[in-house]
Amino acid sequence: WKQVLDQVEQSNFFTEDTLRWIKNTTLFKIENSIAYISYRSMVTKTILNKEETKNMITSVLSEVWGSDVTIQLIQYKDMEKLMPEEEIQQRTNQLLKCTFNEEYTFENFVEGKSNQEAYAACLACCNQRGTHMFNPIMIYGNSGLGKTHLLHAIGNYLKEERPECNVFYAYSGDLVSILIDAMKSKNVHGNTVDKVKSLLVQNDYFLIDDIQNLTRESSQEIFFTVYNELISRGAQIVITSDMHPNELNGLPTRLVSRFNAGLSINIGKPEFETSKAILKKKIEGNEEACQIEEEVLDYLAQKFSNDVRNLEGSLNRLIFNATLENPDVIDINFAQRILMNEVIVNENDELTIKKIKKAVTRFYGLTYKDIEGKSRQKKLMNARHVFVYLSRELLHKAYISIGQELGNRDHTTISSSYERACQLIKNDVNFKMAVEKVQEMLEKK
Ligand code: ADP
Ligand code: MG
Repeated sequence: WKQVLDQVEQSNFFTEDTLRWIKNTTLFKIENSIAYISYRSMVTKTILNKEETKNMITSVLSEVWGSDVTIQLIQYKDMEKLMPEEEIQQRTNQLLKCTFNEEYTFENFVEGKSNQEAYAACLACCNQRGTHMFNPIMIYGNSGLGKTHLLHAIGNYLKEERPECNVFYAYSGDLVSILIDAMKSKNVHGNTVDKVKSLLVQNDYFLIDDIQNLTRESSQEIFFTVYNELISRGAQIVITSDMHPNELNGLPTRLVSRFNAGLSINIGKPEFETSKAILKKKIEGNEEACQIEEEVLDYLAQKFSNDVRNLEGSLNRLIFNATLENPDVIDINFAQRILMNEVIVNENDELTIKKIKKAVTRFYGLTYKDIEGKSRQKKLMNARHVFVYLSRELLHKAYISIGQELGNRDHTTISSSYERACQLIKNDVNFKMAVEKVQEMLEKK
């Protein structure tokens, strides 16, 4: 480009002023004999668009480049958004060529009351040909309950059993970014949106994960047309979401009403037995390496079943720590110690005074007897103050009911304990930190 500009300058074709504007350009790329030249100001654009200027530059550029080119102007700020065609192609291809997590199969999915409807619907739709009874299948529920797992299971199953099927899977967030890229590049590269659309509608299975993230209006528009086309072509659509379709506020009503036309299934948190079965599945085959007492599995299943991700995470933590400490067996004491700072309160469970008591005693390493007893040891006193303070602040409990939890201490004792706690929070950094730490334990999901 420098060479071109030099030659243009030497030709004395333009005035100095004009030349300055022309020099304020860059050559973005040459592709298919089109030279994309970016400008920063509208003045430059006006100058470059003049027939004589354009012809002059075109001929110099063609000569330097070695073959004929035509010039296309683009604004500098659009240039960043403008990706080379290959890159768009690559990204699009990658999105269209879906890969599935091999671990997420139907076999590896533990069924229970909370998820068996969702499981059955996903499995059933894999074996239907032609018309699909329920379309779309919409699976909704909180995070970590197996929605993504089930979509991948469909993909894995079809790849194995019905390889002739075209299966598309995407997080709706990824889909949005592809559609937006396609729209941005539209003016320069021809209509990529149409290209993407035509590829999308060719699928037999269309699996969209976390539809609640399909928030951009322009992409909803495209999605809507693709969706309708897929349905009319008899493709099966399976969608997941973190809430019931009717509560998807970010999505337009016409989409939501289409989702409602199918089958909506809730996936809930696994019951105790299912949670345990999930844990057992996870350690299957590794029993030699890590011996875990049944009681520990009970403990985990009870505590972490709000979210299977956490359930697995807590188990991993135990196993990891066992490799560091090498205990003979992972027993309940080991588990409680390692997971001490993990969830105390299950997300959906409300906070109760008992839970505060539990968190405080756990934080200080005390028993209920200690905290209810009469000892005036400093640590015990502080633990009681923290307990009183948090029960008051978080639950607005009456002094009398707080007192009941502390070995039937009376109203006056509790009220002065509360006052003392307020003072300590201001003057004693350690005390303040203890309060915060316990609160954090209570808030952790
Ligand atoms: P979601 O998409 O609902 O947030 P995921 O599908 O990502 O949840 O599941 C989180 C983790 O829990 C994954 O590792 C998944 O394999 C596992 N999981 C969830 N439910 C089950 C189940 N019923 N059986 C086995 N693993 C499960
Ligand atoms: Mg998911």
